[in-house]
Amino acid sequence: MKNFKINLNTQNKMILVGLVFSTLLIFIIAVFLTNKVQEKLSQSYNELAQLLTKTVAIESVELIKDIEDTKKYDTLAYHTNLILNTNDSISYIEFKNDKGQVIYSSKDVEKNRAKETKSSVSAPMSIKTDLGVKNIGVVTVGFSGKMIKSVILTTKNSMFFVFALAWLVLSAVAVINTWLITRELHSLHHGVKKISGGQFGYTLKDEDASGDIKELIDAFNDMSKRLHAYEEKNIDQLTLERNKFETVLMSIINGVVVCDNFDNVVLINNSAKKILDVEESDILNTKIQMYCDTDGELCFREKIEQFKDTPLDIIETKPLEFNISVGKRIIKSVISPMFSKNQDYVGYIIVLIDVTREVEVDKLKSQFISNVSHELRTPVTILRTYVDTLYSHPNDFDEATRKEFIEVINNETTRLQKMVNDVLDFSRLESPEANFVKEDCDIGNLVDESVASMKILADEKNIVISVIKEPELPIIKVNREGIQRALNNLISNAIKYSPENSRVKVRAELAADSNYLEVSVEDNGIGIPPEHLDKIFDRFYRVENDTHTVKGTGLGLHLVKITIEKHHQGKVFVNSKPNQGSTFGFRLPVKVIEQEEDLV
Ligand code: ADP
Repeated sequence: MKNFKINLNTQNKMILVGLVFSTLLIFIIAVFLTNKVQEKLSQSYNELAQLLTKTVAIESVELIKDIEDTKKYDTLAYHTNLILNTNDSISYIEFKNDKGQVIYSSKDVEKNRAKETKSSVSAPMSIKTDLGVKNIGVVTVGFSGKMIKSVILTTKNSMFFVFALAWLVLSAVAVINTWLITRELHSLHHGVKKISGGQFGYTLKDEDASGDIKELIDAFNDMSKRLHAYEEKNIDQLTLERNKFETVLMSIINGVVVCDNFDNVVLINNSAKKILDVEESDILNTKIQMYCDTDGELCFREKIEQFKDTPLDIIETKPLEFNISVGKRIIKSVISPMFSKNQDYVGYIIVLIDVTREVEVDKLKSQFISNVSHELRTPVTILRTYVDTLYSHPNDFDEATRKEFIEVINNETTRLQKMVNDVLDFSRLESPEANFVKEDCDIGNLVDESVASMKILADEKNIVISVIKEPELPIIKVNREGIQRALNNLISNAIKYSPENSRVKVRAELAADSNYLEVSVEDNGIGIPPEHLDKIFDRFYRVENDTHTVKGTGLGLHLVKITIEKHHQGKVFVNSKPNQGSTFGFRLPVKVIEQEEDLV
């Protein structure tokens, strides 16, 4: 069974106590007044009874004083009956003579009435004679008390009814009044709650209220209005400040994640969302340690533990730096503690920098150094061996062998020179001060010259280079040496990555957009897998797999790109399919841009 418990507040308790007291008071007053009234009524009734008895005595004396004794009985009986029949309150009347003998008594006639007698009053019957007042007997009147009883009862009932009514009205007034006040207090309470909940400007209705409560409600509404106005002013200011802060934070190129004292993410900027590949709603208010990258790795957990284990004064001067991998990307993360104005520790900030490219370049650089060393070692070793042999045994070889040796030495020296030139060109072309002298050139001639210089290389693999030139190509202003080197690079690559006995086609023509002249080198070599194509012109980038076994520096194509795009405002391109071949080329603007000419 349910245990009902009524919760009464102080106000309700006081109302209840007041009601009990007023009820008691009304009850006591009612009983007291009723008793008083009863007393008064009884007194008045007794006085009335005495008066009545006296009247009966005087009347009776008047009736019997002049008649014979024999007739007195009948006269009194008649008179008594007359009184008894018209008056319910009189139960009997009895007459006695001066000797105490009963002359007439209605008791004998109407015995029943005597039973109802409540009180009796006697009065002397006297007549005036010359000798003075003579007592001739006594009359006794018995009163039934019926009338007084009903009067008292009626008075009592009326009084109780009046008091009960008064109590009811009082209680009703108290309850209604309390209800009205409570209702208004409730609405005030509701309003205060709204305000404390930040709903400034909330107004209460005051039509039904009156007096002090109305004034209170009006004051509340006024306060609410002021707060609203103040809030709007403040909000505008705060919004401005916040917007400024957010704009700055959101536009920072590095990722920023702010965590509170309990490791919960409280703020994350756009870059961080992109870097961590998360939606704001998914990461806000979650523990940063629980962040998983796309491979399901908890990338931050270990480092956050380390950060928390390091004393604050140390970490403050030297923030914790580490790299995490998010999917395939490498993210440099820097965690620094965050302090309030009062220097209380409130959390930490993680700055995220995508260093995938830098790490890749670093890797490529070290790969480049190892490649260059390797590439240099081979010709140097060959050179040393051949020079050593010739030096130690000058007469042991015939003319033809010596010539063969010297040819090898010559080729290796050329290879060595090319490599050193590549590295030198690279640093020269990359430098911001690099300036190219440009002159009017016939690209067709340049193509012919390059093809001629590559002939020996092509012949080694029995590769035929064919040249397809559009007639009357416009003369354009270029840096001769640079374009020549770019062409040589493309043709030598085509030879390098083509099988023996194949064909390389070099084209020089006007591009679809006739503002450009297009030169391309097409081969039927090993081709390039699609995933490498967008990075193939990057510095040090090399494809190294089962088919791309030829060693190199990864600089050649990058030099082509710099020469064409940075120094000639042209564009390089590549189309390639593995095992089918590649077409590398570039487009050069027919008209050199004016300011570029000034630079030359
Ligand atoms: P490298 O000195 O290594 O040849 P490059 O910058 O000239 O450097 O070339 C970069 C990479 O591009 C090479 O490692 C090679 O894998 C690829 N490559 C360049 N040209 C061709 C081509 N014609 N066919 C296939 N692969 C090529």
